[in-house]
Amino acid sequence: MRRSSEPISGMLRRRRIAGRAQLAAAADSYQPRRQPSGPLVCPQCGVVYAQGRWHWGSPPEGAAADLSPACQRIRDQLPAGIVTLHGPLPQPRRDELMALAHHHEAAEKQEHPLNRIMRTEESADVLQIMTTDIHLPRRIGEAVRQAFHGELDMDFDEDAYFARVDWRPPKG
Ligand SMILES: [Zn+2]
Repeated sequence: MRRSSEPISGMLRRRRIAGRAQLAAAADSYQPRRQPSGPLVCPQCGVVYAQGRWHWGSPPEGAAADLSPACQRIRDQLPAGIVTLHGPLPQPRRDELMALAHHHEAAEKQEHPLNRIMRTEESADVLQIMTTDIHLPRRIGEAVRQAFHGELDMDFDEDAYFARVDWRPPKG
């Protein structure tokens, strides 16, 4: 993955200097495609795993309580995706970008309960949105480009289950 001087969380910094094998192993324990052996209900967010998929609804009888992969990532502060929105970002624009990101998260989460925004970070020049999955960053990035034009740059590392999306506003 490309190196960058942008602000990133300490956790991510540690991931970046970890070896590739280590990284893949760490990523694997959060893999949404890893199948639990029986029905589960997440005590944190209430999402249910049954018949091979995660969905919102009532848990089947006998479902075990276990944190969903999304809540594990939130607990461990380990994003699978990072959207970086580059400035200049005056406050009204920041508000618009955040509203747009949260709107798309809400829509995405209906269908794909493990795809969520886990937190956001703001600095003078950038706004960063951390997600629990690798698909939401693309969706947010494309929505931002559609609304505000500019340039999108996307990096996906399927093996490590990590996605990075950068958006820059139009020049001038
Ligand atoms: Zn959960």
